[in-house]
Amino acid sequence: MGKLDEVLAKAKDLAKVAGNKTEEVVELTRLKIQASQLRGDIDANYLKLGEIIYELNKAGTENEELISMCIAEIESQREELAELTNKIDEMKNVVKCTECMAANPVGALYCARCGARLERKPEEHSEEDASAEEAPAQETEASEVPALPENAEKAEDAQA
Ligand SMILES: [Zn+2]
Repeated sequence: MGKLDEVLAKAKDLAKVAGNKTEEVVELTRLKIQASQLRGDIDANYLKLGEIIYELNKAGTENEELISMCIAEIESQREELAELTNKIDEMKNVVKCTECMAANPVGALYCARCGARLERKPEEHSEEDASAEEAPAQETEASEVPALPENAEKAEDAQA
């Protein structure tokens, strides 16, 4: 009987592990369905926005408020989708490269595709991290300045 008890205990443990895994899979599936529904909603809203602009234009009127409302709704849906996608990535134990969007295993320091340094999860950022990152953030801002218009380039040439 002792042996059987042992087997039973093992079987129960296995069931527990399997149960946890199944829950995870169910949660992941739920999130994926939610994300795909949200994508559909966003597409539908893009269509609606196009129709609104079409109708307004046809009627020869403008309604910035209506358009802004529609854009605000799409914006919030896109944010929600980004959050969902992050959650899904987290569950799949991958982290996306901010440079090339390639999926890398959690804990990797550099992107396997482009070699960019991978960022830590946002929730791991403390206030200290934020202040330490101020300097490189300024660098990024500078490099993000759009290309100079032609006349500005000429002005630079004249200076040189
Ligand atoms: Zn990359």
